[in-house]
Amino acid sequence: MKANLHPKYYVTTASCACGNKFEMGSTKENLKVDVCSQCHPFYTGKQKFVDAGGRVDKFKKKYNL
Ligand SMILES: [Zn+2]
Repeated sequence: MKANLHPKYYVTTASCACGNKFEMGSTKENLKVDVCSQCHPFYTGKQKFVDAGGRVDKFKKKYNL
């Protein structure tokens, strides 16, 4: 985390594409995300993403999995 470099750091409510809402730390308020811990295939065990062309890896990097 590089929070020290940011002028403001909010704990804000993020809205996921699946409809889930959760709090997370961010430099922006009212975030929207494509995937969260409630719908991420890594957690649900359901492979919702048909393409395997690196998209999962992208999510893994994004969430440090
Ligand atoms: Zn979600």
